[in-house]
Amino acid sequence: VVKDDMKVGGRSADHGDERVLQLVAEVREAYMTMRTKPAEWRVQQLKGLLRMVIESESEIVEALYADLGKPAHESYMSEISLVKSSCKLAIKELKKWMAPQRVSGSMITFPSSASIVAEPLGVTLVISAWNFPFLLSVDPLIGAISAGCAVVLKPSEVVYATPALLAKLIPLYMDNSVIRVVEGGVAETTLLLEQKWDKIFYTGNPKVGRIVMAAASKHLTPVTLELGGKCPVYFDRSANLKVGLRRIAQGKWGNNNGQACISPDYILVDESIASELVDNLKEIIETFYGKNPISSTNLSRIVNTKHYLRLISFLEDPQICSKIVHGGERDEKKLYIAPTLVCDALMDSFLMSEEIFGPILPIIKVQGEQEAIDIINARPKPLAAYVFTTNKAVEERMVKNVSSGGMVVNDTVMHFVNPGLPFGGVGESGMGSYHGKFSFDAFSHKKAVLYRTSLGDFPARYPPFTTKKQNF
Ligand code: NAD
Repeated sequence: VVKDDMKVGGRSADHGDERVLQLVAEVREAYMTMRTKPAEWRVQQLKGLLRMVIESESEIVEALYADLGKPAHESYMSEISLVKSSCKLAIKELKKWMAPQRVSGSMITFPSSASIVAEPLGVTLVISAWNFPFLLSVDPLIGAISAGCAVVLKPSEVVYATPALLAKLIPLYMDNSVIRVVEGGVAETTLLLEQKWDKIFYTGNPKVGRIVMAAASKHLTPVTLELGGKCPVYFDRSANLKVGLRRIAQGKWGNNNGQACISPDYILVDESIASELVDNLKEIIETFYGKNPISSTNLSRIVNTKHYLRLISFLEDPQICSKIVHGGERDEKKLYIAPTLVCDALMDSFLMSEEIFGPILPIIKVQGEQEAIDIINARPKPLAAYVFTTNKAVEERMVKNVSSGGMVVNDTVMHFVNPGLPFGGVGESGMGSYHGKFSFDAFSHKKAVLYRTSLGDFPARYPPFTTKKQNF
């Protein structure tokens, strides 16, 4: 597979732009036949998708390993099994989600009944990111199909094995007239964004999120933007140190080696337990990944040299390098950076201003939860915030006063796997949400339908308006 080469549906395109435009036109034409509307079609596609995942598990694991050095168990836990359960849930709940929702009538429209009817938004574009290249492509696809939409999926060009696999598999298991994959880079995404869509679902960084939103505004296309940012942890003096730190370590290095949108980005720790926290975290890192983590089979690699160098520039910042208290080892050829702890980084350093998206974890001392709240709220709203405490008052203050896409108390990242919770950001970390029924909603329009009969017509609503009618 040639990276950045223009490909459509797994085949190289002879005339890139024309082929993409033709593909989009074909998908819209097929959508207009209303083939995606019946529940049977949706269930059939979802079952096809589920079968694709089940029958291709080993190929998916291999592709994720090729793209990110992702350990097999991590691929199962954080990509394959999540897609399978999303798919099963959609198959099971679809009829319920699709059912019109009756609402009470009003005196003014008596006699009548009223319903909210979910209808597919239409022809949709899903643009996904490289860090969970399977999950972030297929999970929105499940929402789009459940809602009865047509989909053009544009996976990230930063990785190549998983997008190529998706482009190969999807046509084999699903209705190719309305579900298509376009591989390609920024040029192809730009061309796709210039087309008219009925919904754009984008996962990636906030800078490109702005480009997507600007493009969408030309056609008044609704968007879901699943973006990122710096996800803070507040570690209170009352928290269970060992359990809390194990969960932080798993959320950080056990998820793509920190290259996850909801990875803990930095820890704000009550100063009274800061040195104990650092000592314990070092021990946990050693227990999880050994004395020499480069030989651990449980750590993903950095996705490419560009991102590796970006992360190294954090560590080589003169403000930061003297503050590394653990890790810092690296190997450019192997795209490896050790789990690294940095203590007392200055708040205006590059490390504390940019989303880290890698295995470096800064630890900052604070004087209790109020200072933590002030620090978090002074920055762009994060996608996730984590609080570790056994003190109910602290927990309540954090939940009430910190604005973030999601929040977890005494754990990290686990809100992502609860389909009853909407997953999405707020402010700089995004808009809209998905997962479970929220995915169906993200691709549906809620049509307000009022059913009237021809009985009981009131003359008072029609001209000519007399005083008698006005006083009615
Ligand atoms: P990326 O580089 O793979 O880009 C994502 C998509 O944007 C790609 O499909 C790419 O083709 C397109 N793109 C890139 N530049 C573009 C341009 N100039 N014009 C038009 N399209 C363009 O991914 P990334 O942005 O590096 O992903 C990492 C970011 O995504 C982080 O900020 C992370 O926090 C965030 N993220 C968020 C979620 C979430 O669910 N909220 C999940 C994963 C990643």
